[in-house]
Amino acid sequence: MPESQAPLKYPIPKNWIINAIIIIAFVSLYFALSQKTVTEPVINIPYSEFKQLLNDGSLASVTLKGNVAEGTLIQATGIGPQKAMGMHFKTRIPDIGDESLLPALEARRVEVKAFPPEAENVLWQVLLNLLPWILIIAFWFWIINRAQRSMSGGLGGKGELGKFLHGSTKSVDIPDITFDDVAGQDAAKREVTELIEFLKHPDQFRALGAEVPRGILLMGPPGTGKTLIARALAGEAGVKFYSISGSEFIEVFVGVGASRVRHLFEEAKKNSPAIIFIDELDSIGRTRGTGLGGGHDEREQTLNQILAEMDGFSGREAVIVLGATNRPDVLDPALLRPGRFDRHVVLELPDRNDRVAILKVHSRKVPLADDVDMEQISAGTPGFSGADIKNLVNEAAMLAARDKATQVGMKCFDEARDKLIMGTVRTLAIQPEERHRLAVHESGHTLVAYFLPHADPIYKVSIIPRGRALGATHQLPEQERHTLPEDYLRDRLVVMMGGRSAERELIGSVSSGADDDIAQATALARAMVSRWGMSKEIGPVDLRDSDEHPFLGREMALPRHFSENSAMSVDKAVKELLGNAEKQAIDLIAKHRQLLDNLINELEEHETLDQEQVKACLGDKVSQLKASHQAQ
Ligand code: ATP
Repeated sequence: MPESQAPLKYPIPKNWIINAIIIIAFVSLYFALSQKTVTEPVINIPYSEFKQLLNDGSLASVTLKGNVAEGTLIQATGIGPQKAMGMHFKTRIPDIGDESLLPALEARRVEVKAFPPEAENVLWQVLLNLLPWILIIAFWFWIINRAQRSMSGGLGGKGELGKFLHGSTKSVDIPDITFDDVAGQDAAKREVTELIEFLKHPDQFRALGAEVPRGILLMGPPGTGKTLIARALAGEAGVKFYSISGSEFIEVFVGVGASRVRHLFEEAKKNSPAIIFIDELDSIGRTRGTGLGGGHDEREQTLNQILAEMDGFSGREAVIVLGATNRPDVLDPALLRPGRFDRHVVLELPDRNDRVAILKVHSRKVPLADDVDMEQISAGTPGFSGADIKNLVNEAAMLAARDKATQVGMKCFDEARDKLIMGTVRTLAIQPEERHRLAVHESGHTLVAYFLPHADPIYKVSIIPRGRALGATHQLPEQERHTLPEDYLRDRLVVMMGGRSAERELIGSVSSGADDDIAQATALARAMVSRWGMSKEIGPVDLRDSDEHPFLGREMALPRHFSENSAMSVDKAVKELLGNAEKQAIDLIAKHRQLLDNLINELEEHETLDQEQVKACLGDKVSQLKASHQAQ
């Protein structure tokens, strides 16, 4: 039975009955509390008549409230023009006052009470009295309304819970993208291509008794196109795409995650062939019972429901479940066993050729200028994910629009790239000495990188503050690297020390500007020593005290499993590596001092130098290196 027709667990009285009862209860309470004790009628009399009664000795008591006098008579009498009979009266004392009133009252021995004047505006008074009650009633209604909305939504109604349950399955469409929209990622596309045939013609597969994988886990760094490939698969096969994010299950409502999973699978089975895509699978699929992710009951129930649903496939439904994660290391092993997410597809960051292809996909609708060189853009964006490249194209287009250009040129791409890598340009007031130190520092990095044989070539050097940096030296690898050779890493350490060494040699002191250089160099040297066996003294032993996350690159602390002695030897080897790197940097600077001065002057003048300008300053690297070899 569809959940929208399921009987409600809690019979709910009609809204208006509850509301009416509450209003009546509060109004009666108010009147009960505020009821006056005086029930006898009060007769309004003119002041002259009041004075007459006073002189006649007919007054028993008088209460004065500002200009109003109320009182009782000694006995009921006919007062006023209507000659009404009564004991209580009220009169208004003229505004000019009556100085003789009090002495007269005293002389007649009338009991006198005096109070501050009563508020004139009775309506206002009533409102003030009612205000707390109005607030309480409004709050009460709000609470009741909220509870009713989520309850009356039930498992399929129109309330928030209903909306939450149906949110993912309502307007489900067949995606209008195909594998042509996914650039690169050929291995991943190959892995999922065979499923297209199954989704298109499930009966053929069934007739042959072929078992098709049910669950596919897409793993890879953020922005590599996991969602994109899942949507493209549905688009290619022409099937419905049910998508939900793992974190949505654990959202607001406790106890509905499992229901939502059930609902999602039911809908998909009903409309099969279909694809269910669960993004951020790790937020529900973490190893159970470890306390990781909070040991959340709700999460575990949701996970159990997913496992049960995947087991429950009878083999007749053409439904494929795709999960995506960038934390495969924390997934519950039960999710990964055969019959569940047993096929694993890894999506890598795009290489140089793939980046060109992604650039082409995303610039289809962008009017590009003739000078745009996709190869060059791709070469300048190592480590960019597909999402980063999409963002780059968009940034470049926005910059062109800001300049009111009709086409997006290479300059916009360069500027967009610098913005994404180094941050937005900041306008800082920098003192001339500080600017000079900055130029010395960046020129130091540049010169050292230029003359070291294994360092990446210089791409750009700048002393324009961007993001968090005051200046930057940018190197670009000639080719993509998948492993890092020792020579390259040692040269890298020297480059990192180049800035600080130049400051010391040329200015005579160092500054805090090398903070990031030192931190990065120390981390690199530690990894070389404790993980990659690049220190003779330490040898090939794993002495790391933190672990890097496979896709996110974050460091995670590990329990230490080596002796204090080993830790001390690691520290010593790290210091030695860094010390040697600094010495090498100082030597290079001393050797090319004249060239360094040229570079500093140029940098101070132009603020940013590109590869060609640096080359013009420092001369031909090969002939310089030859000359220095001959000199040795
Ligand atoms: P996350 O792990 O953060 O959820 P994801 O791997 O699911 O990220 P997507 O959402 O699929 O990444 O990709 C983000 C955007 O990047 C997409 O809109 C897509 O346009 C673009 N993109 C990523 N990879 C590619 C690619 N290979 N080809 C074309 N576009 C891509």
